[in-house]
Order: sequence, then structure tokens, then C-alpha cells
Amino acid sequence: MLELKNVTKVFNKDQNIIDRKVALDNLTITVEDGDFITVIGSNGSGKSTFLNIVTGMHIADIGNVFLDGIDITKMKQYKRAKYMGMVYQDPMQGTASNMSILENMEMALKRGKRKTLRWGFSAKNRDLFISLLKKLDLGLEKRMSQKVGLLSGGQRQAITLLMATLNSPKLLLLDEHTAALDPKTAKTVLEISEKIIQDEKLTTIMITHNMKDAIKYGNRLLMFNEGKVILDVRDEEKKNLTIEKLLQKFSSTDVISSDQLVLAK
Ligand code: ADP
Ligand code: MG
Repeated sequence: MLELKNVTKVFNKDQNIIDRKVALDNLTITVEDGDFITVIGSNGSGKSTFLNIVTGMHIADIGNVFLDGIDITKMKQYKRAKYMGMVYQDPMQGTASNMSILENMEMALKRGKRKTLRWGFSAKNRDLFISLLKKLDLGLEKRMSQKVGLLSGGQRQAITLLMATLNSPKLLLLDEHTAALDPKTAKTVLEISEKIIQDEKLTTIMITHNMKDAIKYGNRLLMFNEGKVILDVRDEEKKNLTIEKLLQKFSSTDVISSDQLVLAK
């Protein structure tokens, strides 16, 4: 459903050779319908650039990106946005602080819809939002008219997840979306993410700096290093993967970053 073919992305191309940075190096990845892929790799290994090439925030220098067989390599970001739900690390980024939960969700529902559709707060939408918020089990359905700015980071990420998946995107892209949260809240948000992904059968790519989570969630794991995928395991092989095995395989190299080692212990 998503295919990257020989994608290379170089930053600072116009500068001298020392400042040039090959963020993605001839990357070829095929994502299957229904895949839930976790992505790990040290800082600067190209994980975010991979997602940004998919969203259209960056355009590949070489190579192509296909979504359901359509070449979207050069398609503008706003045009492909309706096919993709995204959640980033910063809880402030996905929601508008000065708007209520209800207004934020209305906005998300409207996104990607034709302009001719009525822009209003219908009772039907309200019921939908209440049922979705109830599923989070955070009591937010009773606080729908409160400003999102009053909520905690974890509550905001949970709402951002609902908003990102409201229009049934072809792809859900998560870039370290729990990294800014405390461990307990991160766990809650991850569990919520998994539930939404399973309920909606969403094809998902989730970047995480946490090896345990990368092993625990999803059906496939990719490990990035210097703009390339150096490990791609799925299904049974992934189920049998352990942190020990990962460390054994890679500890003699610098592909596992020190913060990942700390987390692994
Ligand atoms: P990761 O998400 O794995 O930490 P990134 O994909 O963000 O890594 O970055 C890969 C490399 O590309 C890094 O060396 C980073 O400094 C560089 N890079 C990423 N985005 C930009 C940018 N907008 N301008 C210049 N260099 C960038
Ligand atoms: Mg990143």
C-alpha cells in the first residue's frame, strides 16, 4: 500500500561537502496493508526523514514514493494530508490550546472533507465524539467544552490520536508520540494507540526510542542506521525478538544509541 523505491534525501546539498547530510540512502521499503511497523534507530539515523518523505514535508531527491500504486513522490503535502494521520512528539503540536475538546474534534472531522459540507456542531458529531472519548477511558467525555490547554500532555496526545484517526486515514504515522510523556502516561497512550489501531485496522508506522515498546507492539520492526534499514523483522521472527538479541547483534556497533541502552536495562 505504501512503497518507497530507492529514495535518497540529502540535506544541505548546496553547501560544501562537509555539511552535506545523506539522511536517507537509497531506501526501499514496502509497507503492506494492515502492517503495524515499529521503527527504532539512533539519533539522526533518518527515522523522521522517512516519515517526512511519506507526508510530503520533504521531497525525495532521488527515488519514488507510491501510495496504493499512485506515484505521490511530488504530490503537495496538503493534498496527501487527507490520507494520513500524524502524531508527533510535542503534545502542543496536534491540538489547539485555546479551543475546546469539542472544537478541536470538529476541526479534525472537517479536515479533508469537501468545503460544501456544513461547518457546524451537529448533535450527531457530538455523539460520535462522546463515544470516542469514552473509549479512551480518561473521563474526557465529561470535559468536552473545556479548553485543551487545560489538559495534561498525555490527555492531549490521546485526543490528538483520536483526531488523527477520525477520517479513517490510509496511514497512521507516529513520530515518538509518547517520548515527551512520563513512563506511566506513555504506557497509557501507547495502549490507547494500539486499541485504536486494532479497532480501525489502521496501517501504522510508529517511531519509538524505546526498544521494549518497539518489540512489544506491531507485527514488524525496522531498525534504521545512517539512512538505511539494517534490520527488518516481522511476524514470528519479531515475536521471538528480545532486547538481549538486539543488543547481542548490534552492541559492537554504535547503531543503538546510549539512551536506548539505558532504557533497555
Ligand atoms: P532521526 O529521526 O532518526 O533522529 P532525522 O531523520 O531527523 O533522524 O535526521 C537524519 C539526518 O538528517 C540527521 O543528520 C539530521 O541532522 C539531518 N536533518 C534532518 N532534517 C534536516 C533538515 N531539515 N535540515 C538539515 N538537516 C536535516
Ligand atoms: Mg526523529
